[in-house]
Amino acid sequence: MEKKPSLIYVLQNSCCPQCGRQSIFQNFLKIKEKCSCGLKLSNHEIGDGPSFFSMFFLNIFIIFSAILVEIKYSPPLWVHIILWGPLIIFLSVFLIRYLKILFLFLNFKYRSK
Ligand SMILES: [Zn+2]
Repeated sequence: MEKKPSLIYVLQNSCCPQCGRQSIFQNFLKIKEKCSCGLKLSNHEIGDGPSFFSMFFLNIFIIFSAILVEIKYSPPLWVHIILWGPLIIFLSVFLIRYLKILFLFLNFKYRSK
C-alpha cells in the first residue's frame, strides 16, 4: 500500500488525505462527495468546527489589531471600516478553507473505520 500524505502536504495542496492526488474541493469552500480513489469525503463529518474556530481566532486577532492601531495611530473611524471590514471577509474565507482541510485530515486519520 502506498504511503499516505502528511498533514503539511495535504494542507499545501488541498488534496485527498488518502491518495494525495486531487483537490478535495468542488469549488472554493464546498468539499466533494467522493474522491477518485474511492474515499467518501462526505462520510467525514466536519460540522461547524471550521467556522467556529475561524470566527473565534479571527475575532481575537482583529479586535486586538484594531485596538493596537487605535492606540498607536488614532485614525478616523472610516479607516477602521475600510481596513478591518475587507480583512475579516478575506481572512475568514481562507481560514475556513484551511480549517476544513485540517478537520477532514484529522477526521480521516483518527476516526476512519
Ligand atoms: Zn483520494
